[in-house]
Parts: sequence; structure tokens; C-alpha cells
Amino acid sequence: MRGIRGMQAIVREREALAAQIAPLNTALAELAEREFELIKMGVRLKCRECGKTSSLGRWDFVQNHWYAQPYSCTGGDYWNANKTETCHIACPNCRQMNYIYNHPMRDNLVELHKRFNFRFTALFAQVWDRHGDKELRLRQLK
Ligand SMILES: [Zn+2]
Repeated sequence: MRGIRGMQAIVREREALAAQIAPLNTALAELAEREFELIKMGVRLKCRECGKTSSLGRWDFVQNHWYAQPYSCTGGDYWNANKTETCHIACPNCRQMNYIYNHPMRDNLVELHKRFNFRFTALFAQVWDRHGDKELRLRQLK
């Protein structure tokens, strides 16, 4: 019986702490969202083609993919996503693609990708997928 009462006390204590943490988690999430929007508008990239500078959130991201040739009976025959530095970004002014590898902001973009992981592409206006030298396909946002 003492064991059960002890357990109930722990459950009450856990619920009380969770109730205190909830508003802090909400505040943290709101701050993260504001920071995300600030990065989107505040990080500015200069186009290597037309020379105009625009906010990150106005550029398109082009995710390149490379093909793994088939090997043995079951291996290969699939596409892999390129690393950030070997993808492209498309300028909102002239629509020309800038190869990230040669762009002065390459390291910043790679860092942003590491930091935001799956949310990285949400920093851009639109996301395109390109497989080898096939046409670009606009990625549908979920
Ligand atoms: Zn441009």
C-alpha cells in the first residue's frame, strides 16, 4: 500500500512539473519561430549572375540528386540527394541558378541546413528537385 501511495505522489509531482514546463515550451517554440522568420528575411544573398541582393526567403532552392548505377543483383538503381553545397539556388530577380559550391554564402547555407535539418527548405520561396540532367520538378509542400 505504501508503494502505491508513493507512486501517486510521484505522479502528482510529475504532473505539476509538466504544467510548469508547458508555458516555457510554448515560449521557446514561439521564439524559435520568430528567429526562423528573421533568418528568412534577414539573411541576404547576392546573385552571382545579376548582382542583385535578395532575402533568403525569396530565393528558390534546387535539390540536386545523383543516380546510383545498378550493381550485382539488387544493389543501386536509385537516386540520392546531393549535399547542400552541390545544390543550386535560383535568384528571384533574374531566375538564374547559382551553384552553392561557388557562392560566397556557401558555408552559411551549409550551417543553416545542419541547424534546421528538415525545416531548411522552408527558408526558401520554393523547392525544386532535379534528377541528373532531367527537368526541374517543383516540390509540392505538405
Ligand atoms: Zn540574379
